[in-house]
Amino acid sequence: MLIDTHAHVNFSAFKDDADEVIRRALEKNVWLVNVGSQYSTSQRAVEYAGKYSIGVFAAVGLHPIQLKKRTIEYQDDEELTPEEIKTTGENLDYAKYFELAKHPKVVAIGEMGLDYHHFEPGDNVEELKSKQKGVLLQGIRLANEVQKPMMIHCWGVKSRQERDHARTDAYDDLLDILQDNPVEKKGVIHSFVGGYKTAKKFIELGFKIGMNGVITYGIGYDRLIKEIDLEDMVLETDCPYLTPVPHKGERNEPILVELVAQKIAEVKNISIDEVAEVTTKNAKELFGI
Ligand SMILES: [Zn+2]
Repeated sequence: MLIDTHAHVNFSAFKDDADEVIRRALEKNVWLVNVGSQYSTSQRAVEYAGKYSIGVFAAVGLHPIQLKKRTIEYQDDEELTPEEIKTTGENLDYAKYFELAKHPKVVAIGEMGLDYHHFEPGDNVEELKSKQKGVLLQGIRLANEVQKPMMIHCWGVKSRQERDHARTDAYDDLLDILQDNPVEKKGVIHSFVGGYKTAKKFIELGFKIGMNGVITYGIGYDRLIKEIDLEDMVLETDCPYLTPVPHKGERNEPILVELVAQKIAEVKNISIDEVAEVTTKNAKELFGI
């Protein structure tokens, strides 16, 4: 059994066949957490979770890149409602999210966090960073209020040019925020794309590292896989994005989480069964499922 701890079958990429995709996963004994990136997709994640008696859960949040209207290549524009396009960070409707967050099938608050990778020339970077931080702090407050873990998105800069623009590193800023504002039930640093030393700092704070198809794109994350204990990892797809090799280019879906497990097994030189067993246990304990 495997758990895809971060899926978006609640996104419009699956609007024609979401139930089929979920059924396909459950038949293969893959459980999943559908993660909301704003209110509408959070609500849809809760609806799907409510429809299935077993194996389908939800996380509710507001993604940092949703805090400014823009077109991002891989972000589905249909995900934004006109109302949300106008939304700014300060407008996260805490009461509405609180109602969703109380649902018994909601196992985490997120995705929320910091994204310094998508800043564009002309952006007021300091203002966007402080908006992202503000929403993250509201998320932490919510997580502690409902006593659930957090699903954290954090992508730093990927080039020198981006670094000059953003001025600070997203992982450094996130570490500071989590140290000063502890999440009582901890959580996942999902789609982790940093180095192993950074990962270890989050692990010290009690967080799990979310591994997805990105680790199959070459040998770039082999060191991270080797350095991090299985006990500190959870698996995910982030579908429909980040499809693992050899399906890169196709729409991702929860059953492909097996390829993530396989890559970890290869690099760690252990069996895929061991990867499945330990990471499933980690996810079950973290989410209380
Ligand atoms: Zn995601």
